[in-house]
Amino acid sequence: MAATYDAIVIGGGHNGLVAAAYLARAGARTVVLESRQKTGGAATTESPWPDAPEFKVTRLSYVMSLMPPTIINDLKLASHGYKVYPMGPYYQAFPEGGSIMLYADDAKRNYDSVAKWSKKDAEAMPQWDAWLEGLADVLGPMLLTVPPNIGSRKPRDLIGTLRLAWRNRGLNVRTVGDVTRLMTMSIADLLDDWFESSQVKGALAVNGVIGTWAGPYEPGTAYVMAHHSIGDVGDGHLGSWGFPEGGMGAVADAIAAAAKGFGVEVRLNSPVSKVLIAGGRAVGVALGNGDEIRAGTVVSTLHPRTAFLDQVGEENLPADFARDIKNWKTRSGVVKINLALSELPNFTADPGSDLAEHHTGSVEMAPSMEFIERAFQDGRDGKPASRPFSDSVIPTSFDKTLCPDGTHIMSLFTQWVPADWNLDPHTAELEAYADRMIELYDEVAPNFKASILHRDIVGPYQMEQDYGLIGGNIFHGELSLEQLFHMRPAPGYADYRTPVGGLYYGSSATHAGGGVCGIPGWQAARAALADRKVSKSGRQARAAG
Ligand SMILES: Cc1cc2nc3c(=O)[nH]c(=O)nc-3n(C[C@H](O)[C@H](O)[C@H](O)COP(=O)(O)OP(=O)(O)OC[C@H]3O[C@@H](n4cnc5c(N)ncnc54)[C@H](O)[C@@H]3O)c2cc1C
Repeated sequence: MAATYDAIVIGGGHNGLVAAAYLARAGARTVVLESRQKTGGAATTESPWPDAPEFKVTRLSYVMSLMPPTIINDLKLASHGYKVYPMGPYYQAFPEGGSIMLYADDAKRNYDSVAKWSKKDAEAMPQWDAWLEGLADVLGPMLLTVPPNIGSRKPRDLIGTLRLAWRNRGLNVRTVGDVTRLMTMSIADLLDDWFESSQVKGALAVNGVIGTWAGPYEPGTAYVMAHHSIGDVGDGHLGSWGFPEGGMGAVADAIAAAAKGFGVEVRLNSPVSKVLIAGGRAVGVALGNGDEIRAGTVVSTLHPRTAFLDQVGEENLPADFARDIKNWKTRSGVVKINLALSELPNFTADPGSDLAEHHTGSVEMAPSMEFIERAFQDGRDGKPASRPFSDSVIPTSFDKTLCPDGTHIMSLFTQWVPADWNLDPHTAELEAYADRMIELYDEVAPNFKASILHRDIVGPYQMEQDYGLIGGNIFHGELSLEQLFHMRPAPGYADYRTPVGGLYYGSSATHAGGGVCGIPGWQAARAALADRKVSKSGRQARAAG
């Protein structure tokens, strides 16, 4: 006899755990099926060095920002160990000398820091911040909105479209224009409109290309910058970017503990191979070992290619939906490098390897937009970047749980290697790429190379093979304009439902993903629970009639 539950969640990444927690909280007997030996997916803390298990790294994702207070509070994550240290300033030391620091919440210090490079830019900075804040006020709440089915004439869909228009009735011509610019421009063109110094533009361009298969001169990168700059999704003010104590794995662990508290069963080492379908509805799943598990509600949180093409099967999908998923863009060219350090970097521009403010935020290697663009052009030409760019952090400047006293962990989010490096390990080339990355930091902090105790390199192949991130894309799919909002993951299916009845979809490839925000999992559970309520009340009405 197959085991039976009310709900099955495929994938124990943070979105799967959030979905399961909400389903169980509403009374559904829920099981999470996770293929790996641990939950968390791309939100994972691991000890990659068998000889030095005392060092733990936040192996893939590394900073929190967009998790809405609603989820944090509903799941009482703080009581399960969720604690975030707000990050310090943005810091870049320049190979030609000098440095810049940018502060999220200190206009005076920002002015002084930027004025070192350009007085004009220092004066423009408060207006830029205000402009961005105004746009974030519009875009933030959209992250909690279920995208309407634009183009559909069904009454329910028309109501959704009208509701969205009504909610945005306060927008004026100017704001709509600004949003249009943001959605269509490159981050380079946008920054050229505002600033003159290459140092400031390099600093502000980083967020436009994080995890993106596009250099700063590509249209659409202005939006990616905004996605990473939203501080409030409309249900309470979020903290700025921060380091979770215990690394990103601790966030997933807190969600898992909350889910288990609501009665969720989590099965590890349980890869799902198929979604079972009968009469056009999902009725359960088959595991890799052949076991079957049955449930009337199935929520998948896997990459869309895996979820739909491998596990549902094209034969069970409308042809245009299957085509959309086949054409889904899922490149990144990201390489994550995790380092254990014997001491903090001693920057020539800001000497000292005692903990200082410039170690506490992002410690960048993105000295100009041209530098970032060159790295992308290398990747696009089919070569690993000769001078990669990096968005790096040293979480242990706050979090003492990750390594022994006196040592540190540094997390380097680097780009780009060629888009097809998900197909082969490229081990030796990745080692050489990491050497070049480290050399760049050594140029501005000459103790850097010698301070490295251990290093761990995770490239696109490993991301795909070990973590299910197909194509090595960090968000289960690019945040390009044609894959956002009502198009994520496909037109007609952005409401966390799928072409298969009873099958819901809540991975980072849906609206508000990617990132460790939990919104896709939350929305998928809400869609499933709303449909259960409708079908239950329908059954009751039929029984009463
Ligand atoms: C290098 C890197 C850096 C990043 N940095 C940040 C950051 O700093 N901040 C941020 O907010 N976001 C960041 N992200 C993005 C973020 O981590 C992801 O968007 C998010 O974690 C994805 O969560 P998910 O639950 O949707 O999917 P996943 O985390 O991918 O979870 C899917 C789960 O399904 C499991 N699975 C796969 N196949 C099967 C199967 N057949 N059966 C059962 N289970 C299966 C996987 O093992 C995995 O646990 C980063 C990602 C990467 C890769």
